[in-house]
Amino acid sequence: MHIAFDADDTLWHNEPIFDLTQGHIAELLKEWVPADELGEKLNHLERRNLRLFGYGAKGFTLSLIESALEVTRGEIPNAIIQQILDAGKAMIEHPVELLPGVVETLERLASQHPLLLITKGELFHQETKVARSGLAESFAGIEIVSEKDEATYRRILDRYAIDAERFVMVGNSVKSDILPVLQIGGNAIHIPYDSNWELDKIEHRGAEEEGFFVAESMFEVPNMLQEIAALGWQTPVAAANRGK
Ligand SMILES: [Mg+2]
Repeated sequence: MHIAFDADDTLWHNEPIFDLTQGHIAELLKEWVPADELGEKLNHLERRNLRLFGYGAKGFTLSLIESALEVTRGEIPNAIIQQILDAGKAMIEHPVELLPGVVETLERLASQHPLLLITKGELFHQETKVARSGLAESFAGIEIVSEKDEATYRRILDRYAIDAERFVMVGNSVKSDILPVLQIGGNAIHIPYDSNWELDKIEHRGAEEEGFFVAESMFEVPNMLQEIAALGWQTPVAAANRGK
């Protein structure tokens, strides 16, 4: 069995850093716009800019500056632009804070299975986070991709010669980590994270979906993997049919 992990908000905290930065900038701009309106403007611009900037803190910072220019009708003081840039840099330098159970679980699993890390975002920033996390050694492969859709997962599975049926993806985003993996015939463990990025929200049927498992934390993942393996192999005929 090959097991892959998402990084942001699965192995380490990420979304709260974005939320805190946004809150800080909203405070600076409050004489021009209420915080919730700034949030809506920012979501709109991030969505629009995604195809140009991709995911990550740099694109977020640029969209914040664009939002600030729009809500102040171009009258934003230079000092505030400087503060937005500084906040963006601080996000990129923010220490990597691992989630509970990550170290123990990866250590245990890495001795039994080849582990992959699959994360989307900005290459340079994600590379430095992986390096600073101290987790790089646990992984047989690290894939930093621009989008996590079916085509991306197919490409990765092909490259590592992994059978989708024997592949389990673990992550916090139903949209990026779970549904595309189920779509190509794999299994996925969803570990919900407290706060969700607006652009990552999606309707889904949860554990009713075949191959969709839910864990409360990384601590539950090893036992859940055993359950998944048992499900897959107790009925060899059904498993063989699924593979066709
Ligand atoms: Mg994530």
